[in-house]
Amino acid sequence: MTFDDLDLIAPLLDALDEEGYSEPTPIQRQAIPALFEGRDILGIAQTGTGKTAAFSLPVIQLLWESHRPGKPRVRALVVSPTRELAAQIGERFEAYGKYTELKSTVIFGGVGQNPQVEALRAGIDVLVATPGRLLDLQDQGHIDLSNVEFLVLDEADRMLDMGFIRDIRKIVALLPERRQNLLFSATMPDEIAKLAGSLLRKPTRVEVVPESTPVERIDQSVMFVPKADKRRLLSHLLQKRPMDTTIVFTRTKHGANRVVQHLERDGIASAAIHGNKSQGARTRALDGFRDGTLPVLVATDVAARGIDVDGITHVVNFDLPHPAEVYVHRIGRTARAGADGIAISFCDETEGPYLKAIEKLTRQRLEVDAEHPWHDPSVRDAEPPKPEPKPPRNRGGGGGRGGRGGGGGGGQRGGGRSRGGRRS
Ligand code: AMP
Repeated sequence: MTFDDLDLIAPLLDALDEEGYSEPTPIQRQAIPALFEGRDILGIAQTGTGKTAAFSLPVIQLLWESHRPGKPRVRALVVSPTRELAAQIGERFEAYGKYTELKSTVIFGGVGQNPQVEALRAGIDVLVATPGRLLDLQDQGHIDLSNVEFLVLDEADRMLDMGFIRDIRKIVALLPERRQNLLFSATMPDEIAKLAGSLLRKPTRVEVVPESTPVERIDQSVMFVPKADKRRLLSHLLQKRPMDTTIVFTRTKHGANRVVQHLERDGIASAAIHGNKSQGARTRALDGFRDGTLPVLVATDVAARGIDVDGITHVVNFDLPHPAEVYVHRIGRTARAGADGIAISFCDETEGPYLKAIEKLTRQRLEVDAEHPWHDPSVRDAEPPKPEPKPPRNRGGGGGRGGRGGGGGGGQRGGGRSRGGRRS
């Protein structure tokens, strides 16, 4: 199948030619015709599947076909959890829409608002935004959302993780009822399924898994190491082995910070990226990692998603992931574009069951790398320690800090409409 078969207009086909794309990816093949039929979309897909083009191509086409001269109004709104992703999406809209006269702009927090306000004032058709800055500028009266015909929520599960779901509901409440809605998410936690249920009208569900690097091409090993020695082992490896561009995965944000502090003490440059980091810190870390000045990035799984960096030579699982599928996603970060990659997993006395699950899923036994001073094979079969029983001390009433506070702000009706027959 070619892009021609998807009924794309000439300005888009020309732009795609220049990008060198020869055929649509599976998510594009599924989503583009459904969007042309006026359907809402529930897309279960990660970065790397071509999802950005899957929504931006049809949105550009539909906007361009009904474009009128005069000052543009915001007719498509794309909401993204992070500045990096928003910038990537904005850049894609520019590239695909270069032979149309549609205008797009990207707004996000962490930088001065004036240039963004100027761009909005001049008039744009497509607005790509992070939730906080969007609401902020809307509160200040700089954004008119009353003409929005397309709403795209990208990486919805990450928005949930970063605490943006209330903001999303507020944004949705500002939009006209009649519009087409697209929601993309790599996973479907309950909260997101609920959001999708209230937002989308009879959506077409498109689901694809990313083409990950074949696991066979990655040189994988496990190191058995007591939990208390993991950080020392990591420093040791980074100092003794040629590890050019390394992502270290930790299970928690806190763990990522501790690893970075430890590496710093050992004179190894690294940076952590996770949801609690400021935009500025994330951008500096990623820029440094991309241009090779920062050799080690320490990341949580959620933060690492959506970051597209080629040339990663090593993945270190500082904590063994669970569920086991996450292991395949993590190690697929290396060995991209024909290169070979190396994945090293640390396994401590609490992680034997996770290792077994990974070996079962990948149907292979990981090679044991014992070439380090903390090698301790007994951890593989160690009984995971039971959680320590709480001392039966009465601390005197006062029921803790309470729950998470119930329910989000008011539910939202998705508008909906049919564009039936528009592409007969
Ligand atoms: P995404 O999942 O949208 O982040 O896209 C992943 C990468 O695939 C981006 O670098 C896109 O430019 C690229 N891409 C998107 N669609 C195609 C296509 N049909 N053929 C080749 N590359 C594509």
